[in-house]
Amino acid sequence: MLDKKNKIFKNLYGQHGFGLNVAQKLGDWKNPKKIIKNGKEWIIDEVKKSGLRGRGGAGFPTGLKWSFMPPKSTFKPNYFIVNADESEPGTCKDREIIRNEPFKLLEGILYASVAMEVNTAYIYIRGEFYNEYLTLQKAIDECYKNNLLGKNILNLNYNLDVFIHRGAGAYICGEESALIESLEGKKGQPRLKPPFPANVGLYGCPTTVSNVETVAVVPAILNRGSDWFSGLGKENNTGTKLFCISGHVNSPCTVEEEMGINLKDLIEKHCGGVIGGWNNLKAVVPGGSSTPLVPASMCDNLSLDFDALKEVKSGLGTAAVIVMNKSTDIIEAITRFSRFYNHESCGQCTPCREGTGWILKIMRKLCKGEAKYEDIDKLEDICSQVENHTICALGDAAAWPVQALIRHYRKELESKVINNKILKSAE
Ligand code: SF4
Repeated sequence: MLDKKNKIFKNLYGQHGFGLNVAQKLGDWKNPKKIIKNGKEWIIDEVKKSGLRGRGGAGFPTGLKWSFMPPKSTFKPNYFIVNADESEPGTCKDREIIRNEPFKLLEGILYASVAMEVNTAYIYIRGEFYNEYLTLQKAIDECYKNNLLGKNILNLNYNLDVFIHRGAGAYICGEESALIESLEGKKGQPRLKPPFPANVGLYGCPTTVSNVETVAVVPAILNRGSDWFSGLGKENNTGTKLFCISGHVNSPCTVEEEMGINLKDLIEKHCGGVIGGWNNLKAVVPGGSSTPLVPASMCDNLSLDFDALKEVKSGLGTAAVIVMNKSTDIIEAITRFSRFYNHESCGQCTPCREGTGWILKIMRKLCKGEAKYEDIDKLEDICSQVENHTICALGDAAAWPVQALIRHYRKELESKVINNKILKSAE
């Protein structure tokens, strides 16, 4: 279990109250002057050395990503955008940060902006997070008042403006290039890459987009040192992580733990166990709905980190652990995911637009016991034609849960078909 002294999020549930003074008492905004004076190279170097990998799902090394930004030119500004469009089903960690620890996020934005020579930063927040938007604005106002944002910050001759932009509820706007399009006032559709945002981003200018949690842990790294952060977790999977556990557990929660914690320990220590006990576990979706499920037989020693989950053909994603016990109709559950991705497809590429609809159609037939045996192979074939054949990762996200279902529960799928045949012949 994560030692209390190593926790980054000390006020995740708002138990200590709200406000800049509360955040400062808990260790935020400790040495902003010193950190800013250390300069951009030092900040990027520390973030690189910490081993921090993006917490939004892809797990790309943060320091490396930030280092891709070119120096600010006289003709084009550099932009930094925080992705707060948290919409992956099962995920509710960034929401907690914004509600209760927004000053950590704003401090992280300041250091990231110094590192990338940015004077204007945006926070793109999910439209449904209305109260969170108000909270965040309140925190921004307080920072402006205390000369932590705005003009000539802390008399260091550095300016930074932070604006919030509210999304309108499309899941796809969480994809960085769709988010940029949406921020520009256009329809939120992913762009073809390259060019990547670091070269051609917001309004055609160099831009970096980072997740809320990624940015919010940076002040702790810079204050406590990259060695401290990289000493937590596992090699290549360093630091702490917010896990959001939902589904069939006795106490669903969002909790900070060391990267690489054992799944069983996480559920038993923080969530009061699986409903009906560990042996009643059927499967987990370890990182939000787009990550392939892992059946109970593979869960006993499952480490929750990027690499270990890749080994079992799944992923850490957003670390939104969805627990399903044996009362779950696993085919129905995955059909819900298929419906979601079909609904959220932006429609600009054919394999995703058409494929997600075909996947949903067959999944529904399977739920009703109306599918033919060959439909399972057809489903597998469609998924393989969607996966890796689309502009953005939504196509993969639609295919992976279904592929994992077929991989691990083929017998269950077949029994639905066979039952249907028996039923039909008895008529
Ligand atoms: Fe749009 Fe789907 Fe193509 Fe992504 S994969 S660009 S969501 S149609």
